[in-house]
Amino acid sequence: MQITFLKAILLTKGVTIDGSARSEIWSGRWKAPRMVRSGMSGGLEFYLVLGGYKVAVSCLYSLETDDEGLVIIHDGQKFYLSFKGEIVCEVELVPQPSYYALSTTSGKKMASVAQQCFTKLAVGVYGSCALNQSPKTACAFCAIHAAKKTDSPNKSDDEIFETVHAVADSELGNHIDIIMLGGGTPNTPDKGAKRFASLSVRLKKIVPWRVTAMLVPPKSATDLRRLHDAGVKEVSINLEFGSDKAFAQFTPGKAGLIGRRRYFDCLEEAVKIFGAGNVQSLLVTGLEPMDETLWAVDWLAERGIIPVLSPFRPLPFTLLEKECPPEVNDVLSLYFEARKVVASHKMFLGPRCAPCQCNTMALPWDVPNSFIT
Ligand code: SF4
Repeated sequence: MQITFLKAILLTKGVTIDGSARSEIWSGRWKAPRMVRSGMSGGLEFYLVLGGYKVAVSCLYSLETDDEGLVIIHDGQKFYLSFKGEIVCEVELVPQPSYYALSTTSGKKMASVAQQCFTKLAVGVYGSCALNQSPKTACAFCAIHAAKKTDSPNKSDDEIFETVHAVADSELGNHIDIIMLGGGTPNTPDKGAKRFASLSVRLKKIVPWRVTAMLVPPKSATDLRRLHDAGVKEVSINLEFGSDKAFAQFTPGKAGLIGRRRYFDCLEEAVKIFGAGNVQSLLVTGLEPMDETLWAVDWLAERGIIPVLSPFRPLPFTLLEKECPPEVNDVLSLYFEARKVVASHKMFLGPRCAPCQCNTMALPWDVPNSFIT
């Protein structure tokens, strides 16, 4: 099977963990699967090893037998992906980071302060979200409220820096190359930009990692400039959908309290400040007609903004938990059409960091060498 096809299956249908692999996966040697809170990192993380490539994947997993799906097995030495009893390729799990066993001096598990996602350290700075407090404003696909055990709310800056120091001093010190600040939207006009900027200034003094931030549009472009001046190299401002209808239906808080117009304006402001190829925007795919998503891909790419295709995942504890994931063929059709659209603007599908593509429909070869970080 081709890697592209495999990845589309894994992102939509997930994988079954066979009995032969369970005790090894949860042996403490490997990074155990985590709660998935949105389209972001979580679930089971591994590399597909096929055709000379190592492709990062993070997907939902099940322990139920599924004779029609992809299965992870273990032969006593290595993990493999199999389909109907035939081995498809080897998979490599991610070793359990040593800092996951540590706690901050305040007593918080460092694993709940910042999580390793392949070569990225993800810091959910707030670990909670003002929009998620009510079904009237929550993004319908987001489970941030249910992830408190694994992603602590109310992290202090001291806890974040203690954890960053522990990661930098660990075996991951030379492995991590990106730190992403995000994790929920505070109820302030800057939408977290001021805190992200102050964290970035301190981070730049202690780690060489590329600092990125994910946030909803702050009220004013001044806050985007503040992030840039603080050393943030890349921002994610997620348009989520191509149509006004889907945006209002599935992200009612963003539609009602921030407004679609502000998203468009903010993305254009961001690309002026950070430069083409340094702003990305995630699109949830499979909840609206393909043409609508492709319209957004075109709008973004035309402006030098990197579109990111994130196939919808019906997560437990979300308003859409009973929805079906998109069909594999639809995910693939959209991916191939979107590639043509971005190419017509001399752009590419992101994220630009290959391991960060783990839960998005993009492959390492989509990103031109000049943009690989
Ligand atoms: S803004 Fe939406 S997706 Fe982001 S944390 Fe809040 S509810 Fe979740």
